[in-house]
Amino acid sequence: MTARILNGNTIRDQIYSELQQQIQELRGLGIRPGLATVLVGDNPASKIYVTSKIAACEQLGLGSWRFTPPATVTTEELLALVEDLNNRDDVDGILVQLPLPRQVDTKRVLEAVDPAKDVDGFHPANLGRLVSGRPGLVACTPVGVMEILRRSGATIEGANAVVLGRSDIVGKPTALLLMHANATVTICHSKTKDLPVVVRRADIIVAAMGRTAMVTPDWVKPGATVIDVGINKVTDAAQAERLFANFPQRLEQFRAKGSTLVGDVHPDVASVAGAITPVPGGVGPLTIAMLMSNSVKAARLRRGNRAAQPAGAEKA
Ligand code: NDP
Repeated sequence: MTARILNGNTIRDQIYSELQQQIQELRGLGIRPGLATVLVGDNPASKIYVTSKIAACEQLGLGSWRFTPPATVTTEELLALVEDLNNRDDVDGILVQLPLPRQVDTKRVLEAVDPAKDVDGFHPANLGRLVSGRPGLVACTPVGVMEILRRSGATIEGANAVVLGRSDIVGKPTALLLMHANATVTICHSKTKDLPVVVRRADIIVAAMGRTAMVTPDWVKPGATVIDVGINKVTDAAQAERLFANFPQRLEQFRAKGSTLVGDVHPDVASVAGAITPVPGGVGPLTIAMLMSNSVKAARLRRGNRAAQPAGAEKA
């Protein structure tokens, strides 16, 4: 069996065209949804992430602002910036790019973001809403995982889903979303016993551990749907040779560049799974798409209703 490849770029494009319509409707009400990004210091990976998030805003016609405090910034200074952004009516989403420098109290900063503008879905108020199944802003990668599953026609209701990883930003929210969609969910972590046996029961596997190619074909039930969230950089030639023994094109790309990205799922799993997301080009594009979607959603929830009301309705 060769798995169907679930192409994240195609799904992202579908989502973008739907979002463009919603953005036009909002613009008709005089609203231009806008995202403010806060990028502290000069972490190269963070810079790349923020640049691609701003490029997506520009592509879709969302407003965007980039704030770049120095690496020496204090918690109080960041809290003041977040407060300013909370108070600005033109800012619908606030994204504080992680990681923050050591001297900064990350929790305090994230909790200072107005939950209505928390497009990363990290605020405890939004996490609480997710737990109880109430509407709110949900973390982008987990929503992206659900979009891939839904849009590729996977049966979620009644499925056995195994989530590998229990982080607050990926594993836990993904497990909750799957549970709300009526899957029977098992959450695995570094202390889980007999991991391959547990994973082999899954109809849906979501791998989010940050462990290069750990899920091998013998862990996977034939026909299972596999969503690979992991992003791991491989620079070792011998490791690349082993991983891509059956993928000469990937090996060529590795040789040309000297590095490549590999997920938590071994490439050979494609010979057992029914459907699988590639790395790169699977979950990654969805994470940014869902950030855009959350920004539009935040604008709609916070300003859309207000603008749709007749003049003076707010006072009445
Ligand atoms: P964390 O490091 O926060 O969490 C990793 C989780 O995996 C932990 O719960 C850990 O268990 C579990 N784990 C680690 N090793 C093992 C093991 N050997 N067996 C079983 N479980 C294990 O990572 P994140 O959740 O932030 O990210 C996970 C991966 O997803 C990373 O590769 C990251 O780069 C990627 N990612 C990709 C995104 C995308 O857009 N595609 C977005 C966000 C993340 P324990 O709790 O016991 O320590």
